[in-house]
Amino acid sequence: MTKDLRVNSDRMLASFNKLALIGARAAGGVNRPTFSEAHLAARKWFREEIERSGLEFRIDGAGNHSAVLTSERSNVPTLLLGSHLDSVPDGGRFDGALGVIAALEVLRTVKESGIKLNVNLEAIDFTDEEGTLVGLLGSAAIAGHLHPEMLKSPRGGRDNLVEGMQRAGLTDESMLSAVRPKDSFAGYLELHIEQGKRLERAGIHIGIVSAIVGIWSYRLSFIGRADHAGSTTMDDRLDASLGASAFTLAAREMVIKEFPNCVVNVGKMDFAPGAFNIVPARVDVSLEFRSPDEEEFKRLDAALLLLANTEATRFGLELKYENLGKHSPSIMSNNVQQAYAEACDDLGLTHTSLTSGAGHDGQSLADLCPVGMIFVPSVNGTSHSPKEFTKWEDCVNGANVLLQAALRLATE
Ligand SMILES: [Zn+2]
Repeated sequence: MTKDLRVNSDRMLASFNKLALIGARAAGGVNRPTFSEAHLAARKWFREEIERSGLEFRIDGAGNHSAVLTSERSNVPTLLLGSHLDSVPDGGRFDGALGVIAALEVLRTVKESGIKLNVNLEAIDFTDEEGTLVGLLGSAAIAGHLHPEMLKSPRGGRDNLVEGMQRAGLTDESMLSAVRPKDSFAGYLELHIEQGKRLERAGIHIGIVSAIVGIWSYRLSFIGRADHAGSTTMDDRLDASLGASAFTLAAREMVIKEFPNCVVNVGKMDFAPGAFNIVPARVDVSLEFRSPDEEEFKRLDAALLLLANTEATRFGLELKYENLGKHSPSIMSNNVQQAYAEACDDLGLTHTSLTSGAGHDGQSLADLCPVGMIFVPSVNGTSHSPKEFTKWEDCVNGANVLLQAALRLATE
């Protein structure tokens, strides 16, 4: 019976532990930034593991590494399962790695079972999810969202990108050639650690992601007047720091009270002229906010700009602002969420719906095919740290939900 099929926990653990040795750090985590020696070594090991499993290995122009289990039917689309083998500097062993190992284990399990598939199954390790160089690079490439300008001025620096691509045997041209036809995608499923405390606090096995939040960012400039910080009386100053500070505190209050599904962050303030003895003439504020819902985004956007204006006026300042990006939320497929929920119910696992505050490769594919993610609990919510940990039992639960949901979608 298909519904009784389970992943091989011991085999999956052996693979997970071997992978965790590649780029391992004394503190316990791994250091595998995109195209570093350790990252390339992890990918080499992944290729060998795929070949040892008797699965077909594929690599594309963006460096994405895949195991493929083809359907006996010809001209059918592919259901992708996956995550990423790159890490942030001194990251954890679970972020990305768990999703790749679980996807590989699902393919090994399905291959052994001999179950007939209506679609191809592919376990994929996406290039540069973490954004050492570009961010969501491999998934953007296959989705056709990668544009030459993104490679010309990447966030990690053009020189680092070129050097890394050379090490991996890739070029701008190969990256851009990795795009796949839209009708080749049957869907994309990903298992990931939560990287937060919600599941652990609630004592729930599986989080089914309803949306990956969007991110909007601005540079707000509060503009006052430079004056002597000693001889100018307090009531005679146009102090730009007051507007910036009052805005930061008020924005926090407002989001907590009126936008409980959203978060706001002031990550940087630049003071000009920036000296002990000069009243600040200008403060540039790096503002970012995230929401899982497009309509809510628009309301929050308007409310934050109004608030910035109010606080500027209160201190006699001028306000200027520049939008630096509007990335929409990605809505997960209802059909995939349903498949995950049914799989949890069959496996006797508790589940809840939640949003992802972090970005993931599914965002690249959400407008092309049905996409769905599940989370398993992170101990203490810790992630992007060597202390990142998820109990093995939870990892296996996640892999079994991934397996069962994939089978529902691949055999329906
Ligand atoms: Zn990740």
